[in-house]
Amino acid sequence: MGELLYEGKAKQVYLTEDPTVVMVHYKDDATAQNGLKRGTIAGKGVINNRMSNYLFQFLEQHGVPTHFIRECNERDTLVRRVEIVPLEVIVRNIAAGSLAERLGLPEGTILPSTVLEFCYKNDALGDPMVNRYHIRAINLATDAELDTICSLALQVNTLLQQRLEQANLTLVDFKLEFGRYNGGILLADEISPDTCRLWDTNTHEKLDKDRFRRDLGHTEEAYAEVMHRLGLEA
Ligand code: UDP
Repeated sequence: MGELLYEGKAKQVYLTEDPTVVMVHYKDDATAQNGLKRGTIAGKGVINNRMSNYLFQFLEQHGVPTHFIRECNERDTLVRRVEIVPLEVIVRNIAAGSLAERLGLPEGTILPSTVLEFCYKNDALGDPMVNRYHIRAINLATDAELDTICSLALQVNTLLQQRLEQANLTLVDFKLEFGRYNGGILLADEISPDTCRLWDTNTHEKLDKDRFRRDLGHTEEAYAEVMHRLGLEA
């Protein structure tokens, strides 16, 4: 492996011989509440690597440009080296988590139209929510980039909802990150039970990181269940 470029909460990023390519390594480490709660979810790295790669390839096939290049092994994937736009793009179909709290909506309330939110990726500030005007004023992205990001996020939502519905999973909300590459915008980071709220469509059982965040137990089993329903092997 090449030199460690960056280490995050759940992943490491390594340089490769090709300056336009980096290798992502998925760990089992999990954090919540801005790093206050720490732990490991055994086997999570393998599941998130496999599942995210599967979904990125699915999205590519449906016209969404992504950073994905090739899965190397069960925890390592080659991706295009992008400049991450410092925004967490959150897409919501059903009220949960911080939105349910902020707006006083019972968790599970169906939102009649999709909600997009942006948080400024800045650990020291605790990833504050920002709007278009903040993004412009502090130069986080250009208006044109933000327009592209919003339209891609909504397209990803429609595609993922359809694919997950086939697996009897309801896509409650999720977080995306985008990167700049060759003058354009690519979908980057990951899509996994770490970054999505996924509920069993019939029972509304939580099959995502909320099991860890809220100490509900059986977190490993929930991640494995999502993999299984998508027809993937860990
Ligand atoms: N999310 C994420 N990383 C973050 C914050 C949120 O992947 O740093 C995801 C989270 O898993 C959920 C969605 O974004 O699917 C919305 O999260 P919310 O704002 O409700 O925050 P939370 O309740 O997780 O604090």
